[in-house]
Amino acid sequence: MPDVFTDLVGQDEAVETLRRAAASAAAVLRAGSPAGTVDPDGGDVDAGGERAVDPRAGMTHAWIFTGPPGSGRSVAARAFAAALQCVHGTGCGECPGCHTTMTGTHADVRLVVPEGLSISVGEMRSLVLRAASTPSGGRWQVVIIEDADRLTEAAGNALLKAIEEPPPRTVFLLCAPSTHPDDVSVTIRSRCRLVPLRQPPAEAVAEVLVRRDGIAPDVAAWAGAAAQGHVGRARRLARDPEARKRRDAVLAVPRRLTGVGAAFDAASALIEAAEAEAAAAVVEADEAERAALQTALGAGGTGRGAAGAIRGAAGQLKELEKRQKSRATRAQRDALDRALVDLAGFYRDALTTALRAPVAPVHTDTAALAAAGAQKWDAEGSLRRLEAVLACRAAIEANVKPRIAVEAMMLALWRG
Ligand SMILES: [Zn+2]
Repeated sequence: MPDVFTDLVGQDEAVETLRRAAASAAAVLRAGSPAGTVDPDGGDVDAGGERAVDPRAGMTHAWIFTGPPGSGRSVAARAFAAALQCVHGTGCGECPGCHTTMTGTHADVRLVVPEGLSISVGEMRSLVLRAASTPSGGRWQVVIIEDADRLTEAAGNALLKAIEEPPPRTVFLLCAPSTHPDDVSVTIRSRCRLVPLRQPPAEAVAEVLVRRDGIAPDVAAWAGAAAQGHVGRARRLARDPEARKRRDAVLAVPRRLTGVGAAFDAASALIEAAEAEAAAAVVEADEAERAALQTALGAGGTGRGAAGAIRGAAGQLKELEKRQKSRATRAQRDALDRALVDLAGFYRDALTTALRAPVAPVHTDTAALAAAGAQKWDAEGSLRRLEAVLACRAAIEANVKPRIAVEAMMLALWRG
């Protein structure tokens, strides 16, 4: 039977953990005991005389979902939130609790998606405040924080306070790439239960594209492999010809690197493609927001108090522009990172070919080119190139200017 966990691809272990926790949470509600009496790392709960609850399955107030991009961190968090709000306590997918949570309209489920590069302390404080209120639906107040690695230090501290002394019916679900201290502070980590997600296998991704999105099996199989476990990316590749064109351009890079000039040209092309992709992704939202703000401010007013209103409006417009700029920067980084992941896949294919490793190629459509590379570069040269791409990703992550990092990478790829 399909339920809220069905779309969590290739994550059997995590799903099992979450199902048991949801059952335990439902037992807490039935027993009428405040969840505050439950031991964070899974102390037993009084199931009110019903079936015994596995001690390790205990409900707790704070969770961290980790895993590589596209593995379904936020899908898992949302599914778990639905199971907590489910009238059957299972995440049936049918009841109003499940339905409103999955469509993002449940009154007691708040989703925080940072649009910029960080979540501000102001945002976090107001969120924590609202999360402390009694759940209107009588079950749980759930706060989902996507990209918890983008919390500012101050915002992290505000969140930590709430996690340390949680209101009895409040649950925090954090999503982050990993529990590395760079992503999530050690103190927050120590108070959360961890749900690690793995990179779903290409076949599992292909299967969901066929089943849920009605994509032809051969296209789904290709996209599942090319997206390297990123479900959303696989769907885009299968459906969006523009996304396929951008990928083709990235995979053409290796054979274009014929000299220093060509390396710099390739760097420029990669950066500009990422900028164009990002601009296309945010332009609609930007315009809609600006129009909405102008309407709200009653643009063109003249009567008494108009001067003051205009001064206030200028401030709000500036604030909006700042937010939009920060979102654009993030979209550019995400687009560039996708390109680098594709490129890394190419050199990985060259390496596995050189090693005669019995694994399927990432990019079936450039497998012949990767094989030619393998012959020319051997395993060592292929590995050095793969490492150059990964070093570029790490440098950008560490805030090196993208153009500088990409130029260094292209030169390294050319020289070998
Ligand atoms: Zn339900």
